[in-house]
Amino acid sequence: MTAPTPALRLLLSLAAVFALACEEGPKPIDPSASPAGSAGRDEVGRAAPSAFTIAANRAVAASLPFDDTTDFENARRGFIGAREEAKIVRPDGGVVWDLDQYGFQDDAEEAPDSVNPSLWRQARLNRIHGLFEVVPGIYQVRGYDLANMTLIEGERGWIVIDTMSTIETARAALDLVAEHLGERPISAIVYTHSHIDHFGGVKGVLSDEDLERGVAVIAPSGFLEEAVSENVLAGVAMTRRATYMFGFLTERSPRGHVDSGLGKSSTPGTFSMVAPSETITETGTEITIDGVRMVFQNTPGAEAPAEMMIYLPDLEALCGAENVSHVLHNVLTLRGAKVRDALLWSNYIQETIDLFGDRAKVIFASHHWPTWGRENVVAYLELQRDIYKFIHDQTLRLANQGLTSAEIAERIELPESLHANFATRGYYGTVSHNSKAVYQHYFGWFDGNPANLHPLPPREQALRYVDAMGGADAVIAKGKAAYDEGEYRWAATLLNHVVFAEPGNASAAALLADTYDQLGYQAESGPWRDFYLTGAQELRRGVEPLPVSRTGTVDVIRAMPTHMFFDALAVRLIPEEAEDLVLNFVFTDIDETHVVEIENAVLHHRQGEPDPDARATIRLTREVWNGIVAQTASLPDLLTGGEISVEGSPLALVGFFGMLGPEEPAFEIVRP
Ligand SMILES: [Zn+2]
Repeated sequence: MTAPTPALRLLLSLAAVFALACEEGPKPIDPSASPAGSAGRDEVGRAAPSAFTIAANRAVAASLPFDDTTDFENARRGFIGAREEAKIVRPDGGVVWDLDQYGFQDDAEEAPDSVNPSLWRQARLNRIHGLFEVVPGIYQVRGYDLANMTLIEGERGWIVIDTMSTIETARAALDLVAEHLGERPISAIVYTHSHIDHFGGVKGVLSDEDLERGVAVIAPSGFLEEAVSENVLAGVAMTRRATYMFGFLTERSPRGHVDSGLGKSSTPGTFSMVAPSETITETGTEITIDGVRMVFQNTPGAEAPAEMMIYLPDLEALCGAENVSHVLHNVLTLRGAKVRDALLWSNYIQETIDLFGDRAKVIFASHHWPTWGRENVVAYLELQRDIYKFIHDQTLRLANQGLTSAEIAERIELPESLHANFATRGYYGTVSHNSKAVYQHYFGWFDGNPANLHPLPPREQALRYVDAMGGADAVIAKGKAAYDEGEYRWAATLLNHVVFAEPGNASAAALLADTYDQLGYQAESGPWRDFYLTGAQELRRGVEPLPVSRTGTVDVIRAMPTHMFFDALAVRLIPEEAEDLVLNFVFTDIDETHVVEIENAVLHHRQGEPDPDARATIRLTREVWNGIVAQTASLPDLLTGGEISVEGSPLALVGFFGMLGPEEPAFEIVRP
């Protein structure tokens, strides 16, 4: 995945238990303060694509086989019907999905000058939406969420593979299925992996009755732990970075967000969770559900920490989960995550070929459209396998020749077979940042050059660079010269130094924003485009808070083991405020006691017997705790209402919370 995880949202909620301190951002600047002038700007102030950008985009158009329309045929193949209503809404009226917002992509086969034509092609493919028959007995709903929902026809009902991100989008998908294929009960749910765009909509699929009768929910081993824990500790920063990666706050327009590569975008709907009833541990495990045989390939630790692929022998169909898709995926996602293992990933795809390559007549996946025909399936898998292995192997070959991360990313070039294949193009990951990820996996951040061992941090560097280059005006003039020559990467470096040295310099900020616009317009990767365009937007308008929907986290909070919350509190301890302290937290309903101890400015916690020397013992139920975290209840109310009791010193509890710093969900990125 891709979309913000429940854990990210959870952390935002957890942060809000205590007061949030948000500093006011800089005042908006007038885009025409840019030395590039005001001509040709759109209504939000974005620069017109320059002659260099137009030329770069035309060169892309000339370098790829755009006359190959197989993907469009495949994306439309088996079309049954589409939603009439453009919007999918939450119970509170908030829009979760809006087909109309991408309407500007429908009639323009040729890309606007402000969009890389290869990304435009992908955006138009991801725009194709509806219910589709993959083969008789297998259906997919695509284009109403970042991810797909797949339905397998069992003897009595539907086996649903992946339930999309949110209750609203999943419900809409199922309604579409019922409208065209009739109402059928749900026989089982299969989650391919632990990313939220594949399970968050489960309660839009399963009714209360289904839950009561215990419909089988099958997932790869480790699913629940990974699904609730991913990014708990770093969630606030990852959520902030995800606003850049997915362009959450940028306009949908030819000069704004057009696509995420993997799908249109993520969805601000209601997340849910139903824990698996069965997990798959071993490759080769075969089970029969509602008369349908399924053989599993377990693939942990590649695209997701818990993931599996599925072969349906009777239908000769293969589900590639998210290990294969019609993009080069991320070895390291730009919102920030632990780096993935490109070699393992490639090896899994080889294993898929070995296990099922001689049998599968169609491959479908958790994103994008299927590929039909045994030879096409194998060719597709081989290219997917090789894009990751090529980047892995060539990064290490060049590293072993002494090249460092940025040098390798610049040098590495795909062979024509991988370059000209749309399904391995960098619409989501890129060769550049994936090779840096491979370098990171093996070597970490340090390139070995002592000059880079302990350099000054960005603002300190910027102040000195700007001074060394003759002051802000001189650097802006050099930035403008670079901009005028189409040297946008260099212009960005120069102008970023001025903005970091003088955050209030409107001229530098406006020209840097224009520079980011040009880099965004040229980017083939949806996330790269969105990073640049969001950066430009924030330079012009300042940081705007991300509207956070507070709904739907309760399931995930319930599923989280209690110790995880204390881990999350530990990373908020302010060392200067820390005083030695012991507190007992007694959860009366689940019979768990957690002893929290602060020592050496470190928050430790252990589950066990209460510490008799604790300054206070706090008694509450886990359910009450869940409510605090989900923000359905406030701490002071619960204290006065007696739902939380404190034995010992209540001041110790107040003091404890006083040692925990607020989080900053809207921190600066493009300014210091
Ligand atoms: Zn996904």
